[in-house]
Formats: sequence, structure tokens, C-alpha cells
Amino acid sequence: MSQQPYQAPRGTKDVLPENQPYWQMVQDVSRKTLEGVGFQKIDLPHFENADIYNRGLGDQTDIVQKEMFLLQSSPEKSEDSSYALRPEGTAGVVRSYIQHGMSSWSQPVRLYYIGAMFRRERPQKGRYRELYQAGVEIFGDASPKSDYLAIMSAWEVLKRLGLKNLVVFANSIGCSKCRPKYLAKLKKYYKELLANVCEDCQQRYEQNPLRLLDCKREQCQNTTENAPIILDSLCNECRNHFQQTLEYLDYFDIHYDLDPKLVRGLDYYNNTVFEITVENDRNRQNTICGGGRYDGLVEMLGETSTPAVGFACGIERIIRLLKEQGIKPPASRGVEVCILQLGEKAKEVSKEVYDQLSREDINVYFVPCNDGLRQQLQTANKLNARYAIIIGQREAMKNEAILRDLSGSTQELLPSKFLVEEVKRRLS
Ligand code: ATP
Ligand code: MG
Repeated sequence: MSQQPYQAPRGTKDVLPENQPYWQMVQDVSRKTLEGVGFQKIDLPHFENADIYNRGLGDQTDIVQKEMFLLQSSPEKSEDSSYALRPEGTAGVVRSYIQHGMSSWSQPVRLYYIGAMFRRERPQKGRYRELYQAGVEIFGDASPKSDYLAIMSAWEVLKRLGLKNLVVFANSIGCSKCRPKYLAKLKKYYKELLANVCEDCQQRYEQNPLRLLDCKREQCQNTTENAPIILDSLCNECRNHFQQTLEYLDYFDIHYDLDPKLVRGLDYYNNTVFEITVENDRNRQNTICGGGRYDGLVEMLGETSTPAVGFACGIERIIRLLKEQGIKPPASRGVEVCILQLGEKAKEVSKEVYDQLSREDINVYFVPCNDGLRQQLQTANKLNARYAIIIGQREAMKNEAILRDLSGSTQELLPSKFLVEEVKRRLS
């Protein structure tokens, strides 16, 4: 009986060697850029107590209601059922901030992470169930400087990757003082229109009316057309905060557009919210980065009120865009030199050459085998090595070696003492 071969689970993917250079590039550029503007790395567990998401993200949000992978490794033990695979990074970082008493660290605390998140979504183009994000969180600064820093550092990562035609969509969703007044206006507007919106939105009307604005369904987008605009309802404090954030963006030539329908999916946001996408994606179907301010989350998860702001970029979506824009990652160095040897004396000398080259941080492949020269050369070619160093019994006795350029198939005989310098010179 033939069995179907196993497949990766729905909504997950294997990153095969040919795609690794893209992944490396995104992670390297993110790391260098973020550390360069003052963020420190933090790694956290891939699962947490589900409560931090229920409370932090809001139990009416899509992520908590529909997308969380709850863990129940042992149904008899009830404590296992309270874990969830992390659907996003922020709540875990906040948990860690509280657990490790980071409020006593020098403020603001600036952290970044890169890692996998898990959401039980309907898989489709650019939408996975295991997705990778690079993100930052800034704690302890209520001023627009940190809103700017969050936006600017995401922008800088994407710019240094070489991405073009990007735009930041920004909005302010106010605070607990001004937002309720706006929500009352919004509900009043929607009251007559409820028959025209999707079932999800009918529920949102009751539970999370702000999210009526960002439903991606066409029927619902049409109804948002004349909805009241939140920027008109902001209190003075929120208006000034947002205004100053935008002034920073202007000053640093960050291309942004206001989008009054941008509200973000999670309950924890207040004030500035933003997403980054490409200019022709005005409906924000392929957003590559999202973030905003969440001044209430630390308090919600158990510590005294602490202002905070952050973002998360989707690495799969960044890579897709890099490919669409024809941006190539740098090739990996791979094997630079293969040492091919014949005979016992040659093996001894080859080991010395191997040690010298690797001390110089040159990538060397050397196996002291008894294969013939032809076979060893085939191996070197398969490995795409740039150079072969060939040491036979005769060369070993005379302290010499043959340096062969495997791309041009030219070679020269060199005294062993010049070998390493010559390889270094050619590789540079
Ligand atoms: P979307 O509106 O596309 O569902 P989101 O608002 O749920 O995005 P965030 O929670 O803000 O997304 O996550 C930040 C970024 O992570 C997104 O802008 C996107 O690039 C990426 N992302 C989110 N969900 C997925 C997914 N299922 N697969 C791949 N990338 C994703
Ligand atoms: Mg989503």
C-alpha cells in the first residue's frame, strides 16, 4: 500500500538553501540597523501563558478569537491548556519587561526581536500560519520622539534593504479621554448601515467598533466612505502628540500619508498607529510593517503605567517585495579554497596549509582522503570553490604548491611560504 509523503503543515513553509540568502540579508540588516540606533536584542519563548494575549491583545480581537494556537499537550493536566503559541511579539516582551524589573533599568528601554509567530489564519499569498517578524518595543518614553524612532527605525531597515516606493500610512486613534466620544459618533453613523456590512462587522459594531473602519471586504469598505474621521475628534494632547510625530517624519523626509481608516487590529494601541507598505497598495492588503503606541499594555499586564511604542515587520512579506523589486541578496561566500592532496607527506603539509588559511578566516574545504586527483577536482567544482590548492608528493618534498583558479582553469606553481598571502590577495 503506497502512502502519501508527509507534507509541511498547512500554512507553513520550508526555507530551502536557495532562499537562505534572502533570510540572512533581512536578519543581518535588521540586526545591524536596529542595534545601530540603540536597540538591544531579546529572545523569548515561542509559547506563553495564553492569558497575556487574552488580556493584552483583547479577547474580542481576531487574533485571540480566531487565530491563536492553544497548546494542550496533556489534556489531563489543566495547566498545559493555558499556553498559546505566540501570535505576536509585543505581549511577550511586556511580560518579560515586568518579570525582569526593567522599569528600574535606565529608561527608555529599547528592545528588538526576530522570530517566528503563529496564527491560525486562512493560508494564502503572503499569509502564513507560521510567520517571522522583526520588531521593536520602546518602553518608558511618552514623547513623540519615540513614536518617531519606532517609525524611523522600521523605515531605515527597509531602506537599507534597498526597498523602493514605500509609504508610511499613519493615523492617531486618540486616548481613553477622546476616543469614546469618537466611538459614539461612529456608532451613530453605522446604525443605519448595519444591513450593508459583513457579519464580522456587525459583531464589531457591538464589541470593537473602531475596527469597522479597517475591514478589508469590499462591501464594508464602501460603507466607510463617509464615516466620521477620528482626527477631527482628538483631544488637544493627542492632536499635539500626533502633530509633532509627523513633524519629525517631515524633517527626516520619511514619505507618509494620513489614513483615517487605519486603526490596527489589536486593542492595546492608543494615539499613533502606522503601517508601511508600497505606494500602489493603498488598501494596505500587503502591509509589510505595522505598529503604534500602546501606553496601557504594561499596566494591563500587571505593572504601573508605562508608556510604550513599537512595530513588527513581516519577514516573508519583505522577502516577497525584495523579489518583486529585483533586489538580490549578497551571495554567500561558500567554499573559497579546496585543498587537494596526493600521498602521505602531502597530507601532512596540507594540514598546515589548512590551519594557516582558516586562521586568516578563509573558507577552506579539506578532507585528507585517498581519492584520485580527478575525483578531488570534481568535488571542488561541485562545491563551487574559487581556488584549488594542489599538493602532490613532489610539491610536498620541495615546499611548493599549485594554486589553480577553478573559474579560469589557470594555475601557477608557488613556493609554500607565499601561498597564503597569494590566496588572500586574490580573494580580496
Ligand atoms: P494583516 O492586516 O495583513 O493581517 P496584521 O495587522 O495582522 O496584518 P500585525 O499583527 O501588525 O499584522 O503584524 C505585523 C506584520 O506581520 C504585518 O504587517 C505583516 O507584514 C506580517 N504578518 C501578519 N500576519 C501575517 C501572516 N499571517 N503571514 C505573513 N505575514 C504576516
Ligand atoms: Mg492579521
